Amino acid sequence: MFGGKKKNILDAKLKDSIKKTLEKKKDCYYEVATEHDSPAVQSHSIWKSGILKLIAKDNQVFWINPNDRFEIFGVKKELFSSVIIKNATIYRGFCDTHDNNLFKEIEKDEIYVESHIQNFLYSYRAFSYQHVQDTLSSEAYDLFEKEATKLFRIKQLNGKEIITIRKMVENTKEHSKRGKRIFDNTCKEFHNIFRLIEDKKDYTNELDIKFILKSYKINKKLECACSGISDPLLDTKGERIIGINTGFLFINLFPKDESSSYFILGLMKSDEKYYSDILNFLDQQYKNYELGTQNTFLLAMQNLVVNGSENIVLSPDLYYKMKKDDSLNNLINQFEGSIASDINKQKYYQDIRKDYGFSLFS
Ligand SMILES: [Zn+2]
Repeated sequence: MFGGKKKNILDAKLKDSIKKTLEKKKDCYYEVATEHDSPAVQSHSIWKSGILKLIAKDNQVFWINPNDRFEIFGVKKELFSSVIIKNATIYRGFCDTHDNNLFKEIEKDEIYVESHIQNFLYSYRAFSYQHVQDTLSSEAYDLFEKEATKLFRIKQLNGKEIITIRKMVENTKEHSKRGKRIFDNTCKEFHNIFRLIEDKKDYTNELDIKFILKSYKINKKLECACSGISDPLLDTKGERIIGINTGFLFINLFPKDESSSYFILGLMKSDEKYYSDILNFLDQQYKNYELGTQNTFLLAMQNLVVNGSENIVLSPDLYYKMKKDDSLNNLINQFEGSIASDINKQKYYQDIRKDYGFSLFS
């Protein structure tokens, strides 16, 4: 429907809407505190000196830039792009003080020891990243729709065209509709724990009641990292999981040093019933992994990461290796397929036991 000049104008409007949305001042995400020393600053959702540096080469990594993910005509940029680690995985999450203080226990010189509070902080950061991105995305599309309406008023678009644009925007936002309420509710639960911490009260009990936080050690250095959320469509038996009230899984995957990596999986306790099949499956497979017997632990973990998280970083070594043997395309196909509007395609790519022809871990 839109070709040539009109498409170019609309493309430019979309780009401009993204730019304006990104430039807008944002409040600190940490609403627990009433005072913030600055608007939200650019901070890393994946720890720069402890994690990104471990997988970088000449200070570069490959990541999925969320700003490249905006599209309205189905034309997407390449999924992974090269970036210097200073700019990789950044988002406007927290003010200066909170960016520095909240994550002390999983940064600076603190070693990851799989403690509850560390798993909680990793989960919170992964969640906040996705929440902030989700809000940005819906603001950018809203602004774009307003701009298109202006074009309609000055008769640069006709009635049919503006209706099509509105439908396109609606479709693009469809994915996040279910999300918004869950994001808001989950955000409150995270912040309730922080309130107890701020008030110097015992938070451990409440943390146990409200959250499930699991950590799995992997006995090698991974060449990738991830911090985000996942909402798998199917359990391991192919039964549909997602309902209107199902919350997200909080996913973190990162190398710790030259010989070990960790996978942290978090969720709200209230979602345990929806995810119990996946959790049991992972635990069983992990036992086999530890014993060194036949298992699909790494594969299932990889599928959870690729199906859900939009915040994935690859080392240049891994990126070029996968590009060379063409398995990078299989990764991209799964990433796009697992969120496709075609439900059959989605189901095909959402099987967490299936091998889609690539490995992030070899
Ligand atoms: Zn703040």
